[in-house]
Amino acid sequence: MFDRLATSWFHLLGQPCFRVYGKARSERDWRMVEVHATRRRDHDSAWPPFLWRGTCITWTSQVIAVGWDFAEELLLEQAEEPASRDHPVEVLGGRLHGPQRLDQRPIQPWPSASEILAHECGHTYQARRLGLLYWPVGGAVTLFREGPHWYNHFENRASEQGLFGGIVNGSVCPALMNRLRRPESPKGPS
Ligand SMILES: [Zn+2]
Repeated sequence: MFDRLATSWFHLLGQPCFRVYGKARSERDWRMVEVHATRRRDHDSAWPPFLWRGTCITWTSQVIAVGWDFAEELLLEQAEEPASRDHPVEVLGGRLHGPQRLDQRPIQPWPSASEILAHECGHTYQARRLGLLYWPVGGAVTLFREGPHWYNHFENRASEQGLFGGIVNGSVCPALMNRLRRPESPKGPS
Protein backbone atom coordinates (compact mmCIF):
# COMPACT_ATOMS: atom_id res chain seq x y z
CA MET A 1 0.00 0.00 0.00
CA PHE A 2 2.67 2.50 1.07
CA ASP A 3 4.87 1.44 -1.85
CA ARG A 4 2.01 2.06 -4.31
CA LEU A 5 1.17 5.45 -2.81
CA ALA A 6 4.81 6.57 -2.84
CA THR A 7 5.18 5.43 -6.46
CA SER A 8 2.07 7.41 -7.45
CA TRP A 9 3.56 10.48 -5.77
CA PHE A 10 6.73 10.14 -7.85
CA HIS A 11 4.60 9.96 -10.98
CA LEU A 12 3.34 13.45 -10.16
CA LEU A 13 6.91 14.74 -10.13
CA GLY A 14 7.68 13.86 -13.72
CA GLN A 15 8.40 11.29 -16.36
CA PRO A 16 11.17 8.69 -16.05
CA CYS A 17 14.25 9.01 -18.25
CA PHE A 18 13.76 5.32 -19.09
CA ARG A 19 12.28 2.12 -17.73
CA VAL A 20 14.18 -1.07 -17.01
CA TYR A 21 13.44 -4.67 -16.20
CA GLY A 22 14.58 -5.53 -12.71
CA LYS A 23 14.12 -8.20 -10.09
CA ALA A 24 15.82 -10.09 -7.29
CA ARG A 25 17.23 -13.56 -7.90
CA SER A 26 14.57 -14.93 -5.57
CA GLU A 27 11.73 -13.40 -7.59
CA ARG A 28 10.22 -15.37 -10.43
CA ASP A 29 8.91 -12.54 -12.60
CA TRP A 30 10.61 -9.46 -13.93
CA ARG A 31 9.18 -6.12 -12.83
CA MET A 32 9.20 -2.87 -14.77
CA VAL A 33 11.07 -0.18 -12.84
CA GLU A 34 11.16 3.54 -13.66
CA VAL A 35 14.48 5.36 -13.58
CA HIS A 36 14.08 9.09 -12.88
CA ALA A 37 16.98 11.47 -13.54
CA THR A 38 17.67 14.71 -11.72
CA ARG A 39 20.51 17.24 -11.89
CA ARG A 40 20.67 17.18 -8.10
CA ARG A 41 22.27 13.71 -8.37
CA ASP A 42 24.87 14.61 -11.01
CA HIS A 43 28.52 14.36 -9.98
CA ASP A 44 28.93 18.16 -10.29
CA SER A 45 25.74 18.94 -8.39
CA ALA A 46 25.88 21.56 -5.66
CA TRP A 47 23.78 19.32 -3.43
CA PRO A 48 25.50 17.54 -0.53
CA PRO A 49 27.03 14.11 -1.20
CA PHE A 50 24.95 12.69 1.66
CA LEU A 51 22.36 10.68 -0.30
CA TRP A 52 22.41 13.24 -3.16
CA ARG A 53 25.43 14.28 -5.25
CA GLY A 54 26.71 11.43 -7.41
CA THR A 55 24.42 8.86 -5.83
CA CYS A 56 21.58 6.63 -6.99
CA ILE A 57 18.72 5.83 -4.67
CA THR A 58 15.78 3.46 -4.80
CA TRP A 59 12.66 5.16 -3.50
CA THR A 60 10.10 2.41 -4.07
CA SER A 61 9.79 -0.99 -5.76
CA GLN A 62 9.11 0.89 -9.00
CA VAL A 63 11.17 4.07 -8.75
CA ILE A 64 14.95 4.57 -8.84
CA ALA A 65 16.45 8.09 -8.90
CA VAL A 66 19.80 8.81 -10.58
CA GLY A 67 21.79 11.76 -11.99
CA TRP A 68 21.50 12.68 -15.64
CA ASP A 69 25.19 11.85 -16.03
CA PHE A 70 24.61 8.36 -14.61
CA ALA A 71 21.62 7.83 -16.93
CA GLU A 72 23.78 8.84 -19.89
CA GLU A 73 26.62 6.53 -18.85
CA LEU A 74 24.23 3.61 -18.42
CA LEU A 75 22.67 4.18 -21.83
CA LEU A 76 26.10 4.26 -23.48
CA GLU A 77 27.08 1.02 -21.72
CA GLN A 78 23.86 -0.63 -22.81
CA ALA A 79 24.27 0.51 -26.41
CA GLU A 80 27.60 -1.31 -26.43
CA GLU A 81 26.57 -4.42 -24.51
CA PRO A 82 22.81 -4.61 -23.95
CA ALA A 83 21.45 -6.59 -21.02
CA SER A 84 18.30 -8.64 -21.44
CA ARG A 85 15.99 -10.71 -19.28
CA ASP A 86 17.74 -13.80 -20.66
CA HIS A 87 21.17 -12.31 -20.02
CA PRO A 88 20.77 -9.89 -17.11
CA VAL A 89 23.54 -7.86 -15.50
CA GLU A 90 24.47 -8.91 -11.97
CA VAL A 91 26.89 -7.34 -9.52
CA LEU A 92 30.28 -8.95 -10.08
CA GLY A 93 31.05 -11.27 -7.17
CA GLY A 94 27.94 -9.95 -5.38
CA ARG A 95 29.74 -6.78 -4.27
CA LEU A 96 30.07 -3.30 -5.78
CA HIS A 97 33.31 -2.78 -3.85
CA GLY A 98 35.79 -4.95 -2.03
CA PRO A 99 38.09 -7.92 -2.46
CA GLN A 100 35.33 -10.25 -3.72
CA ARG A 101 35.55 -8.47 -7.08
CA LEU A 102 39.22 -9.37 -7.41
CA ASP A 103 38.37 -13.11 -7.36
CA GLN A 104 36.23 -12.74 -10.49
CA ARG A 105 37.29 -12.91 -14.13
CA PRO A 106 37.67 -10.53 -15.78
CA ILE A 107 38.79 -8.43 -12.82
CA GLN A 108 36.87 -5.14 -12.70
CA PRO A 109 37.78 -3.28 -9.51
CA TRP A 110 35.14 -0.58 -10.11
CA PRO A 111 31.48 -1.32 -10.78
CA SER A 112 29.91 -0.35 -14.10
CA ALA A 113 26.77 1.78 -14.23
CA SER A 114 24.85 -1.36 -15.21
CA GLU A 115 26.10 -3.18 -12.08
CA ILE A 116 25.08 -0.22 -9.91
CA LEU A 117 21.62 -0.39 -11.46
CA ALA A 118 21.49 -4.14 -10.74
CA HIS A 119 22.25 -3.28 -7.09
CA GLU A 120 19.40 -0.76 -7.10
CA CYS A 121 17.11 -3.43 -8.57
CA GLY A 122 18.01 -5.46 -5.47
CA HIS A 123 16.77 -2.53 -3.37
CA THR A 124 13.49 -2.43 -5.33
CA TYR A 125 12.85 -5.96 -4.10
CA GLN A 126 13.57 -4.88 -0.51
CA ALA A 127 11.14 -1.97 -0.97
CA ARG A 128 8.51 -4.41 -2.19
CA ARG A 129 9.06 -6.75 0.74
CA LEU A 130 9.38 -4.16 3.50
CA GLY A 131 6.68 -1.70 2.43
CA LEU A 132 6.41 1.14 4.94
CA LEU A 133 9.52 -0.10 6.78
CA TYR A 134 11.75 0.25 3.73
CA TRP A 135 12.47 3.96 4.17
CA PRO A 136 13.37 3.91 7.89
CA VAL A 137 15.34 0.65 7.60
CA GLY A 138 17.10 1.69 4.40
CA GLY A 139 17.78 5.20 5.70
CA ALA A 140 19.31 3.80 8.87
CA VAL A 141 21.77 1.37 7.31
CA THR A 142 22.35 2.30 3.66
CA LEU A 143 25.23 4.67 4.50
CA PHE A 144 27.17 1.77 6.04
CA ARG A 145 27.49 0.31 2.52
CA GLU A 146 28.63 -3.28 2.00
CA GLY A 147 30.82 -5.06 4.53
CA PRO A 148 31.19 -7.93 6.97
CA HIS A 149 29.00 -6.62 9.79
CA TRP A 150 25.31 -7.15 10.53
CA TYR A 151 24.52 -3.57 9.63
CA ASN A 152 25.98 -4.16 6.15
CA HIS A 153 23.44 -6.91 5.46
CA PHE A 154 20.93 -4.58 3.77
CA GLU A 155 23.48 -3.37 1.20
CA ASN A 156 25.11 -6.79 0.80
CA ARG A 157 21.77 -8.37 -0.05
CA ALA A 158 20.96 -5.72 -2.66
CA SER A 159 24.23 -6.56 -4.44
CA GLU A 160 23.77 -10.32 -4.10
CA GLN A 161 20.14 -10.35 -5.20
CA GLY A 162 19.74 -7.57 -7.76
CA LEU A 163 19.42 -8.32 -11.47
CA PHE A 164 19.11 -5.74 -14.23
CA GLY A 165 17.34 -7.19 -17.28
CA GLY A 166 17.86 -4.35 -19.76
CA ILE A 167 16.19 -1.11 -20.81
CA VAL A 168 12.55 -1.38 -21.88
CA ASN A 169 12.27 -0.78 -25.64
CA GLY A 170 11.08 2.70 -26.58
CA SER A 171 11.21 3.99 -23.00
CA VAL A 172 14.18 6.40 -23.28
CA CYS A 173 12.93 9.98 -22.90
CA PRO A 174 13.71 12.66 -25.55
CA ALA A 175 15.76 14.76 -23.06
CA LEU A 176 18.22 11.90 -22.54
CA MET A 177 18.43 11.16 -26.26
CA ASN A 178 19.24 14.85 -26.85
CA ARG A 179 22.08 14.71 -24.32
CA LEU A 180 23.64 11.84 -26.22
CA ARG A 181 23.30 13.58 -29.58
CA ARG A 182 24.70 16.89 -28.33
CA PRO A 183 27.06 16.25 -25.40
CA GLU A 184 27.74 19.98 -24.92
CA SER A 185 24.07 20.92 -24.85
CA PRO A 186 22.44 22.13 -21.63
CA LYS A 187 21.58 19.38 -19.22
CA GLY A 188 18.11 17.91 -18.98
CA PRO A 189 15.38 19.17 -16.72
CA SER A 190 15.74 18.60 -12.99
ZN1 LIG B 1 22.49 0.33 -1.96
